[in-house]
Formats: sequence, C-alpha cells, structure tokens
Amino acid sequence: MKPAAFEYFAPLSADEAIDLLREHGDGAKILAGGQSLVPLMNMRLARPAVIIDINRIEALAYIADGNGVLRVGALTRQRAAERSARVAERCPLLRDALRLVGHAQIRNRGTIGGSIAHADPAAELTAVLAALGGEVTVRGHRGTRTIAASDFFVSYLTTSLDSHELVTEVRFPALPSGAGWSWMEIARRHGDFALAGVGIVLAVRRGVIADARIGLTGVGPTPVRAADAERLLVGRSPAEELWQAAAEAVRGAVDPDGDIHASAAYRKHVAGVLTARALREALSRVREAA
Ligand SMILES: Cc1cc2nc3c(=O)[nH]c(=O)nc-3n(C[C@H](O)[C@H](O)[C@H](O)COP(=O)(O)OP(=O)(O)OC[C@H]3O[C@@H](n4cnc5c(N)ncnc54)[C@H](O)[C@@H]3O)c2cc1C
Repeated sequence: MKPAAFEYFAPLSADEAIDLLREHGDGAKILAGGQSLVPLMNMRLARPAVIIDINRIEALAYIADGNGVLRVGALTRQRAAERSARVAERCPLLRDALRLVGHAQIRNRGTIGGSIAHADPAAELTAVLAALGGEVTVRGHRGTRTIAASDFFVSYLTTSLDSHELVTEVRFPALPSGAGWSWMEIARRHGDFALAGVGIVLAVRRGVIADARIGLTGVGPTPVRAADAERLLVGRSPAEELWQAAAEAVRGAVDPDGDIHASAAYRKHVAGVLTARALREALSRVREAA
C-alpha cells in the first residue's frame, strides 16, 4: 500500500525542524529512520499531513561520553551505535540489546532517537534506558527539557514528548567499572520483537551486591524498572536462591497483556526465567572482570 498524501520538508538544522514543528503542529510527524513510521503510513494507520525529514541534520548523529554518561544524538543509526567501540566500552548492555533489534538492514536505517520516541512496548532500547535510569533531551520552540526515562514513557507508543518537540539526545548512564551486564530476550524468530526481554546491570563489591539494575520489555504498556527486585538484591551475597527470589519479585512487578503471540501468563513466567538467567550471566561477567 501507499501512504496518504503529505507535504514534505527536509530541514538542515534542528532549529529549522523545530520551526517547522511549531508551524505545522499536531499534523506533522518527524521522519528519522522510517522503520516504524513508514510501515504505519503505508498501512494508513498514520496519516500525517506533514513529514519533517530530519535525515539531513548531521549534527544530530554522534556518540560522546563524559561524566559517566554516554550521550547519543537522536539521529545516530542503531547499527552505528551497535558497532561503536565507545558504546562497547561504556555501555555494553546497549550494544548487546541493539544486536537483537530487528535485522541489520533495519538497524542500518533505524535511529536511537526514533526507537525511544516511538516507544514500542516490546522495544529493546526503551528497557535499556529504563534499567539504567537514563534521560531523553528534547527541544521545542519553548526551549530544551531533559526528561527522566521513568517520566518519558507513558503508555503504548505514547511518551511525554509534546507534538512540537524534537528528541535531540538520549543519555545512557555508563556502567560502573567492573560491573556485569546481560541482555536476554525470547522471540519467536530471530529479528522478531521480543515476547519478553530483560536488561541487567550488577555491581559486586567485596562479595556483596552493591548495585543492581533491572529493566524489562514486552511485559506491559511501557518498559518496566523492577525496583523491588533491585532492592532485594542490593546488600546480599550472590546466590542461586537470591536469583530465584528476584525472578519472583519481577513476576510480581509485571502485568503483561496476552495477544496472538503469547499469553499474559507465559510472558510473566518468561520474565522471571530470563531475570534469573541474566543475573547468572551478569555475575559471570563481574567475575571475569575481577
Ligand atoms: C521488520 C521490523 C522489525 C523490527 N524489529 C524491532 C525489534 O525487534 N525491536 C525494536 O526495538 N524495534 C524493531 N523495529 C523498529 C525499529 O527499531 C525502528 O527503527 C524504530 O522503532 C524507530 O526508529 P526510526 O528511526 O526508524 O523512526 P521512524 O520510523 O522514522 O519514527 C518512529 C516514530 O518516532 C518519531 N520520531 C523519530 N525520531 C524522532 C525524533 N528525533 N524526535 C521526535 N520524534 C521522533 C516519528 O515521528 C515516529 O512517530 C523493527 C522494524 C521493522 C520494520
């Protein structure tokens, strides 16, 4: 199918894009990688009157780090982040999650900012951002805001982004030195959206868990940060029984929907199984680093 007719603009700067957003308001849509928007337009599930194509705004494609935060420009291609040595060094959880976003062809076009702005309930990057307690920087004609991940994702495909705002940067806190991590997900076929997925960061000092981060995808309308399970882990010594207790806490924290791909009960069960597996893998990485 073909999309409904639309007016097309290709600004060369973020300022120009923001002016266009101000002028065309709710009828406008930003086009980044187009990997989610274009299928929706082709199926006529989205009919924006105006498309603002940001692909020529080179200043929005970068990966930088400093002060313990990896700053990724919104237009950075998912594949570029996946292959970045800086991402591998500072935030290997992000790299590992990226490897399971669709297929390489999709990641060649799909952007980091597009995935975050689209807020698919089964996306990998939203859960990574939630687990790490990251932030999203957005700009509009009224100025710049930095929104915590916990406030950014509101519901299915819905964020706290105003229709006149542009996502300019996504900030992923770097992993503490010596921390272990793991991304695990279950999908029906390689490249499919996850039925359930979990991202974990684990820091252990003198045999005791000093920090634990758990973010999940596919188990609710937004990514879920499993704060109860994190609290249960911190201050305790790593042990199989502890992983099982954390898995149970995760099952208690999620409220997935069932659909044609998997029942709600299956997703809840798998979220716990993946949590225990990911904790084991994260601990093995802590031990390797030591
Ligand atoms: C076959 C297939 C499989 C896929 N599998 C997965 C998967 O397993 N996991 C996964 O996470 N994703 C998957 N995706 C989606 C893919 O990751 C998309 O690239 C991503 O969701 C959207 O990024 P994009 O840059 O393509 O954004 P676009 O499609 O261009 O835009 C998506 C939405 O975000 C808005 N937007 C984009 N950039 C900005 C910005 N800077 N500021 C404000 N709003 C913005 C757009 O207006 C639009 O509403 C898949 C896609 C396909 C086609």
